[in-house]
Amino acid sequence: MDLSYSPKELAFQAEVRAFLAASLPADIAARVASGAGATKADMEAWHAILNDKGWLGGTWPAAHGGCDWGPIELHIFEEESALANAPRIVPFGLKMLGPVLMKFGTAEQQADYLPRILDGRDWWCQGYSEPGAGSDLASLKTRADRDGDDYIINGQKTWTTYGQYANRIFCLVRTKFDGKPQAGISFVLIDLETPGIEMRPIRLIEGGFEVNEVFFTDVRVPVANRVGEENAGWTIAKYLLGHERTNIAGTGFSVQALEKVKGLARGVMRGGKPLIQNALFAARLAEVEAELEAVKITNLRMLSKAAAGGQLGAEPSMLKIKGTVIRQALNDLSRRALGPAAAPFPSEDLDNLAITPPGHAHNAAGYFNNRKISIYGGSNEIQRNILAKGLMQ
Ligand SMILES: Cc1cc2nc3c(=O)[nH]c(=O)nc-3n(C[C@H](O)[C@H](O)[C@H](O)COP(=O)(O)OP(=O)(O)OC[C@H]3O[C@@H](n4cnc5c(N)ncnc54)[C@H](O)[C@@H]3O)c2cc1C
Repeated sequence: MDLSYSPKELAFQAEVRAFLAASLPADIAARVASGAGATKADMEAWHAILNDKGWLGGTWPAAHGGCDWGPIELHIFEEESALANAPRIVPFGLKMLGPVLMKFGTAEQQADYLPRILDGRDWWCQGYSEPGAGSDLASLKTRADRDGDDYIINGQKTWTTYGQYANRIFCLVRTKFDGKPQAGISFVLIDLETPGIEMRPIRLIEGGFEVNEVFFTDVRVPVANRVGEENAGWTIAKYLLGHERTNIAGTGFSVQALEKVKGLARGVMRGGKPLIQNALFAARLAEVEAELEAVKITNLRMLSKAAAGGQLGAEPSMLKIKGTVIRQALNDLSRRALGPAAAPFPSEDLDNLAITPPGHAHNAAGYFNNRKISIYGGSNEIQRNILAKGLMQ
């Protein structure tokens, strides 16, 4: 299997690099590089720049405003974007709902919603998880009872990422209450302005707010907002989750984090010499770097298989586990390199900047925030179950 890029792919990589150098605003890249994270305005600005370039719906078919990229082009684009400190494009509309509407939506739904995803009029969020229905998603209880041409929705969703920025939510709801739980779920699109919806922020361990609880009390939603057949939502849910797990290894983020921790360890002194020369630290760093190289190669092997039309089985689960473990290990190494200077939280930025080396004020917050990556999109324990099943059956 040839893992090197073809001349065409290398030319595309050069084009992406040149575009990022010319078009990514320096202040936005600086905020992302510092670990402070992109603001809502940053994410919207970058979304608009990519839309103007015509690269927002990269893997979408040209007929829907995309550019028909294959998995390798997408990988190149995402890796280069991460290395250039571009904000991550919010995936809910583009990577999750868009493909669902193209496969399961009516022509009206496609014509109505797809352009609004591209031009940023709609910010979608994902209403799958509930208290008591995360890994065991099929046990969800939010109910939609039919009343003429409407559903009346009651229940609660949780962990809704960026719900505070969104104007729409796609939800899994229960429309049948007997029989197999998976066979009674429907997929509906809800305008968050509809009366009866309340969004409450959940404060995360690092002090930030990016997830929410959403409560539905007698929320009236037209039946026309259902995607696919009634009670056929489980198939759609699984299709969407397949898209949620693309680029899950996040090697671009890890390459960037590795360089950052190396730079830090060169500057921090321990026992009279740079930390990077400490045998134990250097060995830990080398171990993570070797793992990262292995994941990069595995990722390319899988992309090459997918690009050649091969079916991926449990491989994305493998990438999710290794990719997230490596990113967390890098967070751990940079926290260790900073020692006590890694303790402060973003609310204490001013003090923080005075005691941490430049560019590392958000280190502890990033460490705690990234505990999430081994949980969301299907926890690593669940991915291990999927792998075990794939190997043993
Ligand atoms: C920061 C963050 C953002 C999120 N964003 C969204 C979002 O936008 N929209 C959305 O719908 N959801 C979102 N989620 C929810 C996420 O998908 C769930 O948290 C995840 O699927 C795990 O479900 P749970 O939290 O209910 O944990 P549980 O399922 O209760 O699991 C608790 C623990 O038990 C383990 N476990 C559970 N079942 C098994 C099993 N069968 N075998 C082995 N171990 C098991 C789990 O791995 C975990 O360690 C987000 C979560 C987080 C943390």
